[in-house]
Amino acid sequence: TRSTLKAIEQATELNAFITLTPETAMAEAAAADAARARGEAGPLTGVPIAHKDIFCTEGTRTSCASRMLDGFVPPYDAFVVSQLRAAGAVSVGKTNMDEFAMGSSNETSWYGPVRNPWDIGTVPGGSSGGSAAAVAARLVPGATGTDTGGSIRQPAALTGISGLKPTYGRVSRYGMIAFASSLDQAGPMATTAEDLAILLQAMAGFDRRDSTCVDRPVPDYRAALGDGGLRGLRVGLPREYFEADGVDSEVTRAVEAAVDALREAGAEIRGISLPNTSLAVPVYYVIAPAEASSNLSRFDGVRYGHRCDDPADLEDLYKRSRGEGFGEEVKRRIMVGTYALSAGYYDAYYLKAQQVRRMIRDDFARAFDEVDVIAGPTAPSTAFALGAKSDDPVQMYLSDIFTIAVNLAGLPALSVPAGFGGGRPVGLQLIGNHFDEARLLGAAHGYQ
Ligand code: GLN
Repeated sequence: TRSTLKAIEQATELNAFITLTPETAMAEAAAADAARARGEAGPLTGVPIAHKDIFCTEGTRTSCASRMLDGFVPPYDAFVVSQLRAAGAVSVGKTNMDEFAMGSSNETSWYGPVRNPWDIGTVPGGSSGGSAAAVAARLVPGATGTDTGGSIRQPAALTGISGLKPTYGRVSRYGMIAFASSLDQAGPMATTAEDLAILLQAMAGFDRRDSTCVDRPVPDYRAALGDGGLRGLRVGLPREYFEADGVDSEVTRAVEAAVDALREAGAEIRGISLPNTSLAVPVYYVIAPAEASSNLSRFDGVRYGHRCDDPADLEDLYKRSRGEGFGEEVKRRIMVGTYALSAGYYDAYYLKAQQVRRMIRDDFARAFDEVDVIAGPTAPSTAFALGAKSDDPVQMYLSDIFTIAVNLAGLPALSVPAGFGGGRPVGLQLIGNHFDEARLLGAAHGYQ
């Protein structure tokens, strides 16, 4: 723990952390030593980890990378935080992220951008960019992230690590600051699929405080790695993921090489189709902002969060507190979402988007009649230069063309390193059927 804290202090140019918690980390490390002395050590006992700053931590600032919550100290721990602590992991601090998890480059943070350790002139992806950079730079062996439209998988791809978005409902969202509640899911980020399995084991499980959490036994993910394997595994390649516009040729090349490796290891590769793929991004950018505009209404300057100076009246308090507390991208989402939900437009946008969401889910259900997992690129490009897309929201949104449909369908998916393109990491995405994390991790482990 001590050497981890020291390494983090020496890596300030990455800006991967918002808050370090050396005192609580040393106390947790001492508790881990005591557990080990009692012969009670598990695979995570004493292992330093970091939490994305979207997870509430009792007594430690939880900012969601927003000025709005710069001074917010939660009175309770998120489920994921208490689960990992109970498993013996030592939390060393809170990682940087896009503000309220809105972004794909970690440039919308109130605390400044995170830099990709492979090339500090490039972004680490987002929104879990701090967790990705911290793991990629080997500052911590594992970290938590959240994925609403790709925020675990895309930064994992851009920084050459592994990241898993579990099935919606597999991990409790209790204490995780809400962005788009029907899409948000917490998951692990680490260097290998085996480490993802160990972390997921601790994070998964039923929690009555999240009404969408599913009460279903948690398999032994690590034990399942062995018999996962690749022989006979039916892997589907969606035509739409390999013929999409705007995909770097070096990404396609690296992913095709990864598919060849799966084939050589005994997987059966089949062509499939997910016909509504191109509708995922437009549908997401109605549903996610709609839910965000509702969730973010709680930040009103009254109960918690930023409050403006000397408000003239209640309306002035709301306007200025929110105007000062939220950044540009967050305001854009609130405006889009409020518009989509407004009386005259609800049917045309929100309701229509929900109908298309069902079609996207049905595409996957049909595909999983034929294949066990679906493979393709995680992101259309490798890490891009800082600032390259920050003035063009649509270009930024297209970073998630291959990840967003998975959230709309509530499926589990992971990204594992698949070599390099132009010297920068490329991610292979594997998508599984609902609650099929064990098979997904087994396939990724077999590949690695
Ligand atoms: N990049 C997407 C967005 O900005 C997804 C973010 C996420 O998964 N939290 O909404």
